[in-house]
Amino acid sequence: MEMKQVSDNCFAVLNEKNRVCDANSGLINRGGGVVIDTQSDLPHARRMIEMFGRVWPAMPKRVINTHEDADHVWGNQLFDGAEIIGHRSLPEQMRKVAEPKESQKLLHGVGHLLTRLVLKTLHPGIVAAGQQLLEDYNFDNIELVPPTTLFDARYELDLNGIEVHLIHVGPCHQHGDTIIHVPKERVLFAGDVLFNQCTPMGWTGSYEKWFQCLDLIKQLNPDVIVPGHGPLCGLEGVTEMEAYLRYVRDESKKCFDAGLTSLDAAKQIEFGPYGSWRAPARLYMNVERAYREFRKEPPDAPWDTAGTFDAIYEVAKAKGIEVEY
Ligand SMILES: [Zn+2]
Repeated sequence: MEMKQVSDNCFAVLNEKNRVCDANSGLINRGGGVVIDTQSDLPHARRMIEMFGRVWPAMPKRVINTHEDADHVWGNQLFDGAEIIGHRSLPEQMRKVAEPKESQKLLHGVGHLLTRLVLKTLHPGIVAAGQQLLEDYNFDNIELVPPTTLFDARYELDLNGIEVHLIHVGPCHQHGDTIIHVPKERVLFAGDVLFNQCTPMGWTGSYEKWFQCLDLIKQLNPDVIVPGHGPLCGLEGVTEMEAYLRYVRDESKKCFDAGLTSLDAAKQIEFGPYGSWRAPARLYMNVERAYREFRKEPPDAPWDTAGTFDAIYEVAKAKGIEVEY
């Protein structure tokens, strides 16, 4: 984990492995301080607080959650007394997708030999993902703390003359997707509408909505973007991700029209230039998302999470690459 200053008042804490749960956080060090996203577990959140503590005078007054996923909200409880801000959908969605009990049970189960053996025959992908998470994460003692300051389309903060614009852009990757723009400093915190150099994972939303959001980021024209996952970038990161999504959707359409399942399609579609991105077999999720649209399913159709992790496992095996999430 490392901290980088990205403008006069903006900082980022970046996780270097860029696998699942390795989310980035931001700090706008002005007007009492605003932290953007709070990491995936309490040890990571504490490290992030310690790093930001080198530049801020006191614990920040505000926290913004860019969306409802666990890896962006599980450190919220450490910001005692802070105002927590998020899109109106977050409290309900967090209870659906970020309830820590299941993940806590899973990691304890995967750490236990017998449970692991039983689980492995049923869900090799879940075991592989759990073992990977055990290398870096400990979900013990996490309590869900949802935002209480909620907004719909847009919310603005004035931090002693520095404006901060929160713009709801979801659902493209999740219901609550919000980008945070600091125009005066030409910085944008993208949350998970942008994965840089690592394969995007999207849950709720549509390709069209995601393209619209990437277009909006281009219009806002920031110099520095802090993506939800991956290293800092400029607009080239947005262009690359858009090209990836277009490529996957086009290739998926050919496979769909040929009658292939989404799993067989993901095994068949070439990674191309994106094979060097982290966890390329997560391609399966993007293929399946395209298939859901071709099948005219709603953007919030539920996911079979275990089946999804198993499918990523199978794609990695079929392609002869390391299983990684
Ligand atoms: Zn994330």
